Amino acid sequence: MNIALIAHDHKKDDMVVLAKEFAGFLCTCQLMATGTTGGRLQAEVGLRVECMLSGPMGGDLQIGARLAVGQVDAVVFLRDPMTPQPHEPDINALVRACDVHNVPCATNLSGGRLLLQALSRT
Ligand code: PGA
Repeated sequence: MNIALIAHDHKKDDMVVLAKEFAGFLCTCQLMATGTTGGRLQAEVGLRVECMLSGPMGGDLQIGARLAVGQVDAVVFLRDPMTPQPHEPDINALVRACDVHNVPCATNLSGGRLLLQALSRT
């Protein structure tokens, strides 16, 4: 199972909480993340994560490119709806790629929890 994890700055604490909750499952998966999110997951949760570039530097696009060729099975993307993001087009491109390729994408904490619960039972 290849899972991508991305969190905007105000959502990174939530991502760490979520990852700790599902650490037992996530450590059985191939994980990829945008740079800063991945660094926190490595340091604070102890997960092995392939880190892409930071989101604003193109990390979302790197994940989107993998997803487009079938190398991503699920995305947890904790977006911050209250803060304008300089890389909004990249964010939209990644979410669009999920829709194009029918890859499940959770964009908030409760959706992420449901998605990981479901995946961890399969
Ligand atoms: P980051 O990128 O994990 O490098 O902060 C996330 C984003 O802002 O899209």
